[in-house]
Amino acid sequence: MSSSLITGIVVASLPLVALIAVHLWHRYRINHSTAGAQPMTTAPQGRTVIHRDDHILSRRDMSDNALKVLYRLKDAGYEAYLVGGCVRDLLLGEHPKDFDVATEATPEEVHELFRNSRLIGRRFKLVHVRFGREIIEVATFRAGHDSQNNAQHGHQDDSGRILRDNVYGTVEEDALRRDFTVNALYYSVRDFSIHDHANGVEDLDNRTLRLIGDPEARYREDPVRMLRAVRFAAKLGFTMAEETEEPICRLAPLLGDIPAARLFEEVLKLLLGGRGEETFKLLREFNLFTPLFPATQRLLERGGDQAELCEELIIAALRNTDKRIKKGKSVTPAFIYAAMLWHPLQVRIAQLRDEGLPPIPALHQAAQDVVQQQVQATSIPRRFSGPMREIWELQFRLPRRFGRRAEQLVEHPRFRAAYDFLLMREASGEQLDQLGDWWTRYQEEDDEGRAALVKDLGGQRPKRKRKRSRKPRSADNG
Ligand code: ATP
Ligand code: MG
Repeated sequence: MSSSLITGIVVASLPLVALIAVHLWHRYRINHSTAGAQPMTTAPQGRTVIHRDDHILSRRDMSDNALKVLYRLKDAGYEAYLVGGCVRDLLLGEHPKDFDVATEATPEEVHELFRNSRLIGRRFKLVHVRFGREIIEVATFRAGHDSQNNAQHGHQDDSGRILRDNVYGTVEEDALRRDFTVNALYYSVRDFSIHDHANGVEDLDNRTLRLIGDPEARYREDPVRMLRAVRFAAKLGFTMAEETEEPICRLAPLLGDIPAARLFEEVLKLLLGGRGEETFKLLREFNLFTPLFPATQRLLERGGDQAELCEELIIAALRNTDKRIKKGKSVTPAFIYAAMLWHPLQVRIAQLRDEGLPPIPALHQAAQDVVQQQVQATSIPRRFSGPMREIWELQFRLPRRFGRRAEQLVEHPRFRAAYDFLLMREASGEQLDQLGDWWTRYQEEDDEGRAALVKDLGGQRPKRKRKRSRKPRSADNG
């Protein structure tokens, strides 16, 4: 072929090549439109937009109220998305627990827009929009802590912990300050697409839990993220990315600086979220159990029979709780805390008995001591610590069934919880002389049967000490 012919072909095909190049560039821009005017240091992947035809999210599965909030914000000219756990769970085919919205509107602007809304929080200002029993949480896009000089609205302490977080930013910045990549997916009602700023879709497909950014720095900013890592790993059945997992054991003690009230809330999510048994095992594996239940951990570490019983009881309680949640039955933190602290309570009772305290005062004193120690790690609101102590106290009354006592005990408002607790103690290996079985039968019987059961105890009734008929001391003396 002559060189002039080749040149001719190349020149002739130039417009076609240019056309293809423009087309490819255009597609690339749609799919990987690298975000925003601000340079991002922590977003190597940029943004991926998943078109409505390429994902399974459907408005049918979303909360109507969340959609109402999104449309109202959009119509008012604000950028707004559904974000966080709800997008993640819908992509996994699960029912989200709640629906969160993120927007560029400030909390005050959101509040203006919804009469049924309330401004909440100081550390992290938010708006709650209420529709009957459903609350849609609307948060303003936040910027990361290294992106601006934010001394006034954001604040970190010497260890890097975030104390205040009210620096507003762009959606890209908002995505990067979220915890895990799968929690940083944004659904838009503008075109029903999903915006992925941190490679969350790929991690979701691979069932990987990956912290965004430098893991150690992110855990130091907010140590609760370590608990969240374990919670999501258990809840979603995901594997933690190696770099996400590595620092946890080492940094777990940072949780000691987190307010006890916040840790209590986290414990509820961890242990009463339906995957309590699995979560407990992960907490222990990653040293995260120690800052939450220090006395229990000490006992478990000691080893021996009591440590074994303690672990079995906790697992039985969590398994029971998981089952109840699956069946839609109610669960209470009082029960879980009662199980967590039952053996530390026994240890303390034994100490006090050794010091000469009678059984009942020893129980009361020990309960007080154990609770006082625990609330330094996680608080226990009174509405739960009260019932927990009643469950404990009833354990000491359940063996005493003589006369009318059994009859009175079944009427006790906390009887059912105490009875369930008793069964679990037995299941965990405590030797209680078939006490649980006796109470099961007692509840099944009619009045006559119950009377017979109590009568059968006959021989076991402890002999009352007969009052010695005291001789009048003065008799001899006249
Ligand atoms: P759940 O199913 O438990 O509600 P979730 O992912 O929705 O899971 P939330 O606690 O409701 O969890 O938080 C909503 C979103 O806020 C998260 O998905 C995450 O993007 C962000 N988030 C929450 N807590 C943190 C945190 N400590 N650090 C960074 N981002 C967080
Ligand atoms: Mg949520």
